[in-house]
Amino acid sequence: MINYDFHLHSDFSTDSDEKQENIIETAIEKRLKGLCFTDHMDLYFPLACSKKSGGDFVFDVDEYYELISTLRYRYRDSLDIRIGLEIGLRDEPELRDKCIKEYNEMLEKYPFDFIIGSTHCLENIDPYWEEYWYERTAEEGLNRYFDAIDKNISDYDCFDSVGHLDYLVRYVSQEATLRSAERKGRTDILTLARNAEDKSVFKRLYGREIYDPKDFSDRIDIILKKIIDKGKALEINTAGLKYGLGFAHPQKEILIRYRELGGELITIGSDAHKAEHLAYDFNDVCEMLKCVGFKYYFIYKDRKPFAERL
Ligand SMILES: [Zn+2]
Ligand SMILES: [Zn+2]
Repeated sequence: MINYDFHLHSDFSTDSDEKQENIIETAIEKRLKGLCFTDHMDLYFPLACSKKSGGDFVFDVDEYYELISTLRYRYRDSLDIRIGLEIGLRDEPELRDKCIKEYNEMLEKYPFDFIIGSTHCLENIDPYWEEYWYERTAEEGLNRYFDAIDKNISDYDCFDSVGHLDYLVRYVSQEATLRSAERKGRTDILTLARNAEDKSVFKRLYGREIYDPKDFSDRIDIILKKIIDKGKALEINTAGLKYGLGFAHPQKEILIRYRELGGELITIGSDAHKAEHLAYDFNDVCEMLKCVGFKYYFIYKDRKPFAERL
């Protein structure tokens, strides 16, 4: 059983409207034992992208910590509430040192329980936007992204778990998908594309049909070894299932490799931005993890891991 959801967003995050009380009440209804709020804190989010996203992915941490602390006390008999953040790690040379300094100051000021380190932006752009994929194949765009994650894990220490390792496969653009299909001789995809009357055919097509972690195994191995060496955790993020990819992030092959390399620390989260998505597909993911050979997942308190039986 997975009884704790350790990745979720409330209306402190620019991309969520969900009220904290609603999340807590829903978690109790879903019989979770606990959860950790991990709202988005992405320092220096690219201006052009924040205009398109409707916000800059930062918030008042005083207000956040105070509100969640109050709710933690109010609901103490029915739900184990933890306070965390999902921080955006940046590898751009002009931003890296500023981010490390400011995140460290933030984490010294507040006794957070758990910090997810996610790579959302690189080259001063959010690769969610099509511009990132101009003139790139999907593999080129993903390799560049894995390089940024690799560098971030080396350079930053202010996080506990690496968020949604391969989530970018969700956002590969139509053009990059076609370039990859051509390079890989995937005539089925090219035929589908030729006959497609509407662009929505391409939504998540790369992730569903072309993506194979083996194509990135050199880079992924380096990342997994680094996670293990630094005593960090790897996150299992069930949003991939919610988006219809058919797998959680990262894909099962990567989890098998993580175990082969000696990886044991895993955290689990739905990445819900709405209360109804809390604990999304946790039962299926639990079975998958047991098949891979994991016996435990980990929850954090005061930035320290505690094992929970799957
Ligand atoms: Zn994220
Ligand atoms: Zn998230």
